[in-house]
Formats: sequence, C-alpha cells, structure tokens
Amino acid sequence: MNSLQKPKREIPSKRKIELFRKRLLLWFIKNKRVYPWRKTRDPFRILIAEMMLQRTKADQVLDIYNDFFSEFSSPNEVVRTDLKKLRKILYPLGLKWRVKNFKDVCISLIKNFDGKVPNTRTKLTLLPGVGEYVAGIVLSVAFGKPEWVIDSNIVRVFKRYFGILTTKEGRRDRHVIELAQAYIREKEPKRTNLALLDFATLICAPRNPKCTSCLLSNTCHYYSFEKK
Ligand code: SF4
Repeated sequence: MNSLQKPKREIPSKRKIELFRKRLLLWFIKNKRVYPWRKTRDPFRILIAEMMLQRTKADQVLDIYNDFFSEFSSPNEVVRTDLKKLRKILYPLGLKWRVKNFKDVCISLIKNFDGKVPNTRTKLTLLPGVGEYVAGIVLSVAFGKPEWVIDSNIVRVFKRYFGILTTKEGRRDRHVIELAQAYIREKEPKRTNLALLDFATLICAPRNPKCTSCLLSNTCHYYSFEKK
C-alpha cells in the first residue's frame, strides 16, 4: 500500500465530503425507503419508532408501530395503561426487557419535560434507554436540527468510502463524530441523515456491498484500493 492507499486518521476535505453528500442525496431521491415514522414530524412518534427500531428491522416494526399508535397518542396514555397491554402490543419486537423502557421513557417525559419530547441532545439522552443515535435521529428528523447520527452501519460506510481509521468503538470515536457532523447539510438534516442510513443498508451493506452498481465507486477508497 502506498501513502495514498493507507487509511488515515484525519477528516476528509470539505470538497470530498460535499461530493459524497451530493451523490447520496441524488441516489436518495429514487431509492429512499418510505415508512410512516418518516412521514411525520411528531417527535413522540419518531422517538417511539426509533426505540422500536433498535435491534429490529424496519419492516418488522411497521405493524407494531401502527398498533401502538392506534392505542396511544401521548406519553400520558402509555403511562396510564398496564404493562400487560403494552407487552401484548410490543411482544413481536422480542426482547421482553425493552417493553418497560417504553413506559419508563413516557414517565420521564411527563415528570421531567412536561409530557413533551425535549429538543436537545443532552436532555434526550437523559431519557431511559435513549442513546446518542436515537437522539440524533429525533433532533434531525423531528426538529430539523443539523445533528449527527452514527451507528455501526454509518461507521462502516465512512471507513470504506473515505478510508479513515477509527478506534475499535467507531461509534464513539471523536473523529467519526466530527465527520458525521461535517456531512450534514444545514438546510436539510433529515434528508442527509436518512440518505446515509438507507445507503448503508441497501448498497454499502456489511457483506457483499454493491460496489459495481454504486454511484460512489469511482471516488471510493475501498473500491479503489481494497476490493480490487
Ligand atoms: Fe460502499 Fe462499495 Fe459504494 Fe464504496 S463502492 S461506498 S464500498 S458500495
């Protein structure tokens, strides 16, 4: 490997990030995944959907999301229901321990935030079971704030495309967070973050990335130096 080919621990140039974003947004126009939680700006619906999506595939969440919101429309209604009913609705998500999280989050929303979903990362991550990823999605999708979103899929795309080095825990790597922040387009944080998430799932998948049909391949580090 020559010096160009070696992964680096530095933020890519503004130009390279802009090109990446521009192409992803183009790809997203025709390829975006459509889900009910993407059509709403209601922060409570988006927060609950993201909690459901943790460790469960989006297509599996669809019915559960619809059942949940045909029963409850506010944190108050969730708190008033008994755990048994909540368990019945959320059962298909698997992982029983998660059910209580939904009730605990609603209790915390009422107790600490007047029943409303807060609009800062610091406050959102005070909610039980809500981490940086869910906070970033809620802020960018519901509140339109230019806030970064990182999960292991996004780390993989950044590593492959930009050829960056990360620490073992890529999601918490300061370097990756800076890159995710630089990637967001101030004017459309929702679209930029969702485009990256969909691209990571549909094209730059963990196994067998679809490099030959990828519109980023001619500028991708992995495709240029590692795959061939
Ligand atoms: Fe991912 Fe391959 Fe596209 Fe590079 S060329 S971004 S590795 S799918």
